[in-house]
Amino acid sequence: MRKVLVFSTLIFFSNILTAQTIIQRDPEIEQMVKEVSADSLKSYINRLVGFGTRNTLSSTKDPKRGIGAARNWVVQKFNEFGKQSNGRLSAFVDTTTLMPDKRRVDSITNLGNAMAILKGTDPNDNRIYIISGHLDSRVSEVMNRRSDAPGANDDGSGVAAVMECARILSKHSFQATIIFVAVSGEEQGLLGASFMANNAKSKNWNIDAMLNNDIMGSNNSNETNIIDNTRLRVFSEGISVLDTGRTAINLRNLGLENDGRSRQLARYVKEIGERYVDHMEIVMIYRADRFLRGGDHTPFLTNGYAAVRLTEMNENYNHQHQDLRTDKGIVYGDLPEFMDFEYLRKNTAVNLASLANLAKAPPVPQEVRVDVRNLTNYTTLNWKAPSAGTVKGYYILMRETTSAVWQKKIFTSQTAYTLPYSKDNYFFAVQSVNDSGNESIPVIPTAGR
Ligand SMILES: [Zn+2]
Repeated sequence: MRKVLVFSTLIFFSNILTAQTIIQRDPEIEQMVKEVSADSLKSYINRLVGFGTRNTLSSTKDPKRGIGAARNWVVQKFNEFGKQSNGRLSAFVDTTTLMPDKRRVDSITNLGNAMAILKGTDPNDNRIYIISGHLDSRVSEVMNRRSDAPGANDDGSGVAAVMECARILSKHSFQATIIFVAVSGEEQGLLGASFMANNAKSKNWNIDAMLNNDIMGSNNSNETNIIDNTRLRVFSEGISVLDTGRTAINLRNLGLENDGRSRQLARYVKEIGERYVDHMEIVMIYRADRFLRGGDHTPFLTNGYAAVRLTEMNENYNHQHQDLRTDKGIVYGDLPEFMDFEYLRKNTAVNLASLANLAKAPPVPQEVRVDVRNLTNYTTLNWKAPSAGTVKGYYILMRETTSAVWQKKIFTSQTAYTLPYSKDNYFFAVQSVNDSGNESIPVIPTAGR
C-alpha cells in the first residue's frame, strides 16, 4: 500500500514537471504590440490640447474650441480607423443631459462619451471588454470652463491610449466585443462613466473587464526627483462592495479576500503586460484607487463589474489640475512638453496586449469546483467547458496563500486535475486556453460535494 502511494506521488510530481508550460507569445499580439507608436500617441495628444479646453462645461457647439469639438474629433478618428475593420467598428457620441446639481454642474449640460464598438466574431459570446480614458480636462478651479486646460496627461494620455488601441485592434478580429471609450465628466464627478456603467447594467451587458487609464504618460514626481518609466501601477479592489451577507462570510472563511474579480484582473494585466512589453513591470496596488481618490472604474465596480485603474508610477502635481502659469520659476500646467511618450507607448502596449489576449481567449471554464468529499492532502479540481468558443485545454494555477501572483501554471486538456498539494496551503484557479495560447481570466473554484 505504501509503495503504491509513493509511486503515485512521483507520478503526480513528474506530471507537474513535464506539464509545466513554457508560455509563448502569440505572434499576432506580438505584432500588434510592435505597432503601438509613440509618435501616434504624441500626435493625438497635441490635437487634443489644440481644443484649448475640454472642460465638461465648455462649449459643445463651437467647431474649434471646447469639449464638443474634441469629442467629435475622437469619433471622426474612430471612423477613420474603422475603415480597416470591414464594418465591424462603429463609432458615435453617446449623449445625456446633466441637470444642475449644486456641486460641479451649474447649468443644463450636454454630456457625451466618444465611443467605438468593435463587434466580436462569435454571436454566442456576449463578453465585452472596455478600455477607457477621460476626454474632459480642468484647471485649478473645476468649474472654470474658459481658461486653457490642456489636459495633456490628465487625461490626454488615457484618451490617446484608447485611440491607439482602436487604431491597431480594429484591423484584427476577436471572439469577444471590445469597446473603446473617451468618457466625459470625470472631473465633475465621474459623470460620463456613471452614465455608461448604469446604462450597461440596465441593458445587462456582460462586461468581463474594464481597464481605466487615467494619468499615465509622465515619468516623474514633483517632490522626489524620481524618474521611472519602467513601472506602471494597476489599482484594484480585493472584493466587491456587492459581496455582502452569505457571500462575504464564505469569502472570509475561505480566505479569498485577495481574489475578487478585479484583483484577479489586476494579476492578469500584470502577467500579460509583462509577457508582451519589455522593460515594464506592472506594480499591483491593493486598493481600488489612490488614497481617498476615485476614477472612472469606480461606477463599474459599484455596478458589480471587474474594473481596474492604470496609472503612472509617480504623479507630478505641478502638472495636474493647475492653471497655466509660472510661479517662483516653476512652470505649472498639464502640457505635452512634460510627458514621456516612450513611457506612454509601453503603458498603451500593456493595455493592448491585455485586451487582445482577453478578447481572443475563450470564455472562462464553467462550474469550477474543488472536490471536498473526502479529507485528503491532494487537491482535485474539476470543471466544464466554457459556454462558447473552442479550447485547446486549461491552465491550472497555483500559488501560496501569501503570494501576490500565481506561481505554477500547468496545462491540461482534461476537465479534471489532481495535484499533490493541499488546498489548505495554496490557492488554485482554472483558466480556459485556446490554440494560440490566449487564456481567460482565472476562476477560483467553489466547494464541490
Ligand atoms: Zn484624470
